[in-house]
Amino acid sequence: MPRVQQPTWPDESARAGVFDQLRAAPPLVFAGEVDVLRGRLAAAARGEAFLLQGGDCAETFAESTADRIRNKIRTILQMAAVLTYGASVPVIKMGRMAGQFAKPRSADEETRDGLTLPTYRGDAVNGHGFTETDRLPDPERLWRTYTTSAQTLNLLRAFTAGGFADLREVHSWNQGFVSGPGYDRYEQLAREIDKAVRFMNAIGADFDAIQGVEFYSSHEALLLDYEEALSRIDSRTGEVYDCSGHFLWIGERTRQLDGAHVDFLSRVRNPIGVKLGPDASVQDALALIDALDPEREPGRLTFITRMGAGKIRDRLPALVEGVRDAGAQVAWVTDPMHGNTITSSNGYKTRRFEDILDEVVGFFEVHRALGTVPAGLHMELTGDDVTEVLGGAGLIDEAGLERRYETLVDPRLNHQQSLELAFLVAEMLAE
Ligand code: PEP
Ligand code: MN
Repeated sequence: MPRVQQPTWPDESARAGVFDQLRAAPPLVFAGEVDVLRGRLAAAARGEAFLLQGGDCAETFAESTADRIRNKIRTILQMAAVLTYGASVPVIKMGRMAGQFAKPRSADEETRDGLTLPTYRGDAVNGHGFTETDRLPDPERLWRTYTTSAQTLNLLRAFTAGGFADLREVHSWNQGFVSGPGYDRYEQLAREIDKAVRFMNAIGADFDAIQGVEFYSSHEALLLDYEEALSRIDSRTGEVYDCSGHFLWIGERTRQLDGAHVDFLSRVRNPIGVKLGPDASVQDALALIDALDPEREPGRLTFITRMGAGKIRDRLPALVEGVRDAGAQVAWVTDPMHGNTITSSNGYKTRRFEDILDEVVGFFEVHRALGTVPAGLHMELTGDDVTEVLGGAGLIDEAGLERRYETLVDPRLNHQQSLELAFLVAEMLAE
């Protein structure tokens, strides 16, 4: 089957060597965890939980540091606290983390000043620097993707099991950030949560249960060499799990029905997401359901729509209705990032906070009108004070983008913008 968006590795024996090395390596996630997540996503599809999935467009090896990882985790924990407290709904916390190192690209090559080189496909494939050496795909990077993902997961597990994620730490997650509207509002919420916690404590509630939280990993299953090499047969059931991450999704560019990505993911037990852009038809959606979720298993399939603020109200209803009428139980999640990418007049790839918000509002409106379930949010965000997305209460303007634009691929909400968005979504969820 056609394997689209795969790098051309220059040396087949080196690729095969890394493949064998990965095949012999321990799994990054475990089948039992993946099964629990499938159950959680089934609850989200029924409207009994809400998925919060967020992280970088592309993780990088250089930025997989303890500080950066902690900042992302704590941003997601803060957003989850806002959503949980504001809307009284359990939040499934999931990072675009510990594996999000490969990118699909619209062009294979890039030309600058007369020099043409392969495009950057993520740290899993080649380097971002515009030199021949950097841009040459190197299969050793697949091994580094594995080790960096393992390091990230180790920290993630430590942070989320070791007390850092305890709701009683709700204040400490906000420390180290300068004041701003998002933070001030968060502080107020944290005080309320604190009060509720003290009340529960006084009446003898069991706090051991909230000491740790479940936090799941996810990434786009793009590089089939990597995903195939990390697939394992579960000793309990004899079934195949892709143990590179808990949740895997298929991108808008690789969801061809007769392609290798859909075929591969149809064979693993993980919960699977598929991105659907504005041109996806009801027939596309139904055929994807037949291919990936023939048993109509709750929690198995999530559709992550990324229509753009200007199109979602027009395009989403028919998809949701068509799927509902066919009896499938998918979870509908909005990615309000990828349909809203623009170039600023000073040349930055960016997005407007107001467009991102408007797509989320449109997503809720469509589901409310149809009586269907808005099951989650898929975001590109970071825990740092970058300036990559225009607007928000911090009022980042075009000139402001220059201050701290760090992403190598798509623009991410910064820490404060992420919190702001969480407050707005909590209000919609609570309605
Ligand atoms: C992404 O999630 O970074 C991405 C490339 O998305 P899409 O496949 O929706 O374009
Ligand atoms: Mn992206």
